[in-house]
Amino acid sequence: MNIILSGPPGSGKGTQAELLTSQLNYAHFSTGNVFRDHITRKTPIGEQAQKYINQGKLVPDDVVLDVAKDFLAHNQKPGIIFDGFPRTIGQAQGLDKVLNEWQNKIDFVIFIELPETEIIKRLTARRTCLTCHAIYNLDFKPPRKPGICDVCGGKLYQRSDDTEPVIKQRFMVYEGQTRALKDYYKKTHHIYEIDGTLGKDQVFQEIVKLIKK
Ligand code: AMP
Repeated sequence: MNIILSGPPGSGKGTQAELLTSQLNYAHFSTGNVFRDHITRKTPIGEQAQKYINQGKLVPDDVVLDVAKDFLAHNQKPGIIFDGFPRTIGQAQGLDKVLNEWQNKIDFVIFIELPETEIIKRLTARRTCLTCHAIYNLDFKPPRKPGICDVCGGKLYQRSDDTEPVIKQRFMVYEGQTRALKDYYKKTHHIYEIDGTLGKDQVFQEIVKLIKK
């Protein structure tokens, strides 16, 4: 089963994708995580992606689709959670094309919704593990030891794009480009919308209910 988790930045896509992959034997494909790994390793893709990420803009579709094709070619798992990909109609068309070539398809399209004020509050308090990408929030999910990941002991950091001006830009990009995916997928799928203010556990239960139907 292949699931797209979409929604504005900070809506909890990454957290839900992690929860789902820990319970199902699925792959978690987060283009954001892939780009951050490239940036850490100082690869040409990382260099290219960094300037867009720092400005809260989208990495060009051709770069994103190359990374996605590479991931799909190597994936061995029976299902995939797509987290933050696709983000444009061009990426959605590209993904459909590749999946088609592998006689595969998207089964669920889920949007987690959250208002901008809540997004800013959540993201400015977000901390991420440098090593395993586990996500914390200083307000409602602080690590046991400040600055240290509970899961792997890695160092926690604040993403350079989790500052208020960049968050506002990312939200504008979401409204301008990614929200349009709802109309794209509505033609072929039922779109599920979940209220992201419900909190991590309830959102997770909603998703599990949907995919077990
Ligand atoms: P995320 O970790 O999903 O919040 O992504 C962080 C940043 O990486 C985004 O603000 C974009 O600059 C870039 N990015 C991640 N995924 C994509 C994508 N599918 N298309 C374009 N840019 C992306």
